[in-house]
Amino acid sequence: MPELRKDPIIGRWVIISTERGKRPSHFGQTEKTLSPKACPFCPGNESATPREIIAFRSDGSKANEPGWSLRVVSNKYPALIIEGNLDREPMGIYDRMNGIGAHEVIIETPDHDHDLVDLPLQQIKDVLWAYRERSLDLQRDPRFKYILIFKNQGEAAGASVEHSHSQLIATPIIPKRVAEELVGAKKYFDYKERCIFCDIIRQEINDQERIVCENDSFIAYSPYASRFPFEIWLMPKAHICHYIETDIDMHDELASILRQILARLKEGLANPSYNYILHTAPVGSEYRDFYHWHIEIIPKLTKVAGFEWGTGFYINPTRPEDAAKFLRDLPIPKKTVSV
Ligand SMILES: [Zn+2]
Ligand SMILES: [Zn+2]
Ligand SMILES: [Zn+2]
Repeated sequence: MPELRKDPIIGRWVIISTERGKRPSHFGQTEKTLSPKACPFCPGNESATPREIIAFRSDGSKANEPGWSLRVVSNKYPALIIEGNLDREPMGIYDRMNGIGAHEVIIETPDHDHDLVDLPLQQIKDVLWAYRERSLDLQRDPRFKYILIFKNQGEAAGASVEHSHSQLIATPIIPKRVAEELVGAKKYFDYKERCIFCDIIRQEINDQERIVCENDSFIAYSPYASRFPFEIWLMPKAHICHYIETDIDMHDELASILRQILARLKEGLANPSYNYILHTAPVGSEYRDFYHWHIEIIPKLTKVAGFEWGTGFYINPTRPEDAAKFLRDLPIPKKTVSV
């Protein structure tokens, strides 16, 4: 069973998960590009993954058989496992608990050769809808405090299977990065009685120079203090704390702006590897006033090195204003931009 151990100095939890060591990309031995025949995420190979949790099927086909357009399965090499109790306990001065959690894979398309950015809008909407469905289901489990959805695209971003997919991990603790955002946002709210994220949106619309693209409901911009070159944050313009509360009518625009951002990165930066993470509030209602969900998109263009590891400072070689202008001015096919 995986184990969670808490760093007693800064309070960060670490997952010790030896199961993960067995997966194909173990310590940098990258798997050769799989042909669709050998790919566990391709139709016909459903038995190579754990049983599906949900799937979108329009043709009445049976579970765990071909015919799906999107499929969610448990991760075969989970960082955390679903069965068991947390059993939090001290070990001398240290703190540990069992590595309980959910680790799921959202297989975004049956087509091995299409990345998320290449998919039709409806298919991207389905992916975003699956994020919501799984979050709604998992938040009912009282052991889970946080549900993180993320995507690793490309080898440099840590993807061990090339077939387009995202992942979800539900954790029994609030991750440190999220906790830091919560603390900062709460402080700002206590002082100003306004949401910091809403204020940032107002400022960015006013300044214009860091905006990459926007539509009626969403804005994508390069953060003022971006850590990485071409880092982009995507947010709803209206104040929405939990991702699952995003109105169904907004999903067209969300899928459209996400595709547009990915298309601009692909076009402008020669199809880079990237990560994105969906930051939403932890399970519960006490964050409602001051937290605002967003997606952080980070193309993998630089390596995090000694200075960053040692300090938490980042050295960003590209001014966010220049990055935003470059991406904004790219000629993008009209079909990518339309809703
Ligand atoms: Zn495949
Ligand atoms: Zn807000
Ligand atoms: Zn965030």
